Amino acid sequence: MTSLLPGDPADTVGGVATPRALCVLAPNPSPMTLDGTNTWLLSEPDSDLAVVIDPGPLDEGHLRRVVQAAEQQGKRVALTLLTHGHHDHAEGAARFAELTGTRVRALDPAHRLGDEGLHGGQRIEVGGLEIRVIGTPGHTADSLTFHLPADGAVLTGDTVLGRGTTMVAHPDGRLGDYLDSLRRLHTMASDHGVRTVLPGHGPVLADALGAVDYYLAHRASRLAQVETAVEAGCRTAEQVVARVYADVDRSLWPAAELSVRAQLSYLEDHGLI
Ligand SMILES: [Zn+2]
Repeated sequence: MTSLLPGDPADTVGGVATPRALCVLAPNPSPMTLDGTNTWLLSEPDSDLAVVIDPGPLDEGHLRRVVQAAEQQGKRVALTLLTHGHHDHAEGAARFAELTGTRVRALDPAHRLGDEGLHGGQRIEVGGLEIRVIGTPGHTADSLTFHLPADGAVLTGDTVLGRGTTMVAHPDGRLGDYLDSLRRLHTMASDHGVRTVLPGHGPVLADALGAVDYYLAHRASRLAQVETAVEAGCRTAEQVVARVYADVDRSLWPAAELSVRAQLSYLEDHGLI
């Protein structure tokens, strides 16, 4: 949501990303959603069953394109999963479930359709495709990451984006949780063969370890800036935003303010301010 990753090319979004993952881009671009929401269609190459991650906004044309993308590959959508409950990922889920006759599984019961939940540590298998569910709270309390071991890839929703950095949606999202989640992803990249990030917005990242390193460094630097701003006399979240996020487009300041509130709460909890 803030600065661009150094050296980022003007990557394209949408289409085949890995042998088991295809992206259908939703038509909802904005400063917050970058090119739009990435709806992911996952399938084992020789299977006729597919899993959809994040149907996206309630846009009939988009939802039908996702169904068509599956059909063009000779596949049928068998299950729908949500990375988290934000509207730009989940709003179309009920209609998509109607179109495909699938259940929707999510961590937050409010976003489920059917009686099956979803939480970190679960292993899902559809048509030979293995998906491991990793709890990655922080952007929101209900944020999950899906690990595709066969492709060395993770679907990170809004926890790691394809460009810039993300927000911690205070008070639901908490910075301490978010840092723990980034460290979890770091270990997966350094020790468990994860190379590719398939994000909820923006282009695919081929260097998962580099991306997570950048996120950790960025969070540490923002946190130090917030601490300095408080020491310099900033008393409200608005004042901190105006000082620390001066380099960020003003349309993103409301989101930045939530991240600042999350950072202030983290600093208070740790006795640092
Ligand atoms: Zn989100």
